[in-house]
Amino acid sequence: MRTGINHLFIPGPTNVPETVRQAMNVPMQDHRAHDFGGLNLGIFADLKRLFRTTTGQVLLFPGSGTGAWEAAITNALSPGDRVLMARHGHFSVLWAQMALRLGLNVDLIDLPWGAGAPISEFARKLGADTNGEIKAVFVTHNETATGVTSDIAAVRRVMEESLHDALLFVDGVSSIGCLPFEMDDWGVDLAVTGSQKGLMMPPGLGILGVSAKAMKASQAATMRRAYFDFADQVSGNETGYFPYTPPIQLLHGLRAALDRMQDEGFDTIIARHRRLAAGVRAAVQAWGLEVCAESPTLYSDTVTAIRTPAGVDARDVIRIGYDRYNAAFGSGLGPLAGKVFRIGHIGDSNEGMCLTAIALAELSLAAAGASIRFGSGVAAAQEVYALPAPEPAQIA
Ligand code: PLP
Repeated sequence: MRTGINHLFIPGPTNVPETVRQAMNVPMQDHRAHDFGGLNLGIFADLKRLFRTTTGQVLLFPGSGTGAWEAAITNALSPGDRVLMARHGHFSVLWAQMALRLGLNVDLIDLPWGAGAPISEFARKLGADTNGEIKAVFVTHNETATGVTSDIAAVRRVMEESLHDALLFVDGVSSIGCLPFEMDDWGVDLAVTGSQKGLMMPPGLGILGVSAKAMKASQAATMRRAYFDFADQVSGNETGYFPYTPPIQLLHGLRAALDRMQDEGFDTIIARHRRLAAGVRAAVQAWGLEVCAESPTLYSDTVTAIRTPAGVDARDVIRIGYDRYNAAFGSGLGPLAGKVFRIGHIGDSNEGMCLTAIALAELSLAAAGASIRFGSGVAAAQEVYALPAPEPAQIA
């Protein structure tokens, strides 16, 4: 029997605010009724604001981030197309695996887990590709497995410097809606996310930003697709409808989540994530532990991946946290299993939640055999949270 709150400190699915949960509690309705489209036209318009695009389009698919990965690939590319990808964490590895399974010719750059996108290696390969064989560059904006945020603007810059025409695919699953994301300014052609992270929703929606260039590419691309075909979505979406039964309750939740985000303000949301992350990182430093990210410029403001000390199995930390303290911490994925546990500070979070995560991580670490001075991480984070929250303009 568990009493009290079950603490969810994983980096997605994230905590769903009560207003969003309540908004989904509606009777079933006719998804072809003449008054249903209005709900979705508003959602599409607000998602465009969130993705920061005026020239692109946002599409919604039943599914998750993985489904949106597949929709992006199968609509914009053709079998055998050469694409540039880097593997530096669980999710970039999985996206590359999918690209291979779908028959792309994947030019892979392997990096240590904890590194960011390899800007200079991308530049070198794009510069050498004078025949324009590379059709797309894929980047994982925020590697949720390692807590690493890569510089998408820099990727676009090297593409421009080499006058390369490839499409830019960006996985924004754990960044869009929490970290700065500029679809138009960064020239992102396919921006992928899911409903269950920054959007504070249950899982169930794959969300895709598609640039005009990518939409045009989809008309010529020959990879096989059916359920995820952009063309089917686009014709219905114009009037707020879908080519098949949409997840109606999720759409009501998304409406409430977007209202909430607009009330808080996108810039304020970004500033809040930065502040919460700084507190968690201060705690890690006070414990004398390391984060997975190789350097401070790569630190993610949505998730911190913490290396456990030698001799302490991160799986024990996670199990103790879960069984003894009702707290779910993110696990170490793939080769990081046993070496890393993760604290998510993404979505509907605040100082109190992060301090609870830090306090329970201290208890779990100590019980798993780490030498931790109780309260050291909590105090370090409190020093950060005692400072006034910066105005959004100050953090730009
Ligand atoms: N990309 C990133 C960066 C992720 O963090 C995740 C999931 O955590 C995915 C892709 C896969 O998304 P989903 O689990 O929604 O299919």
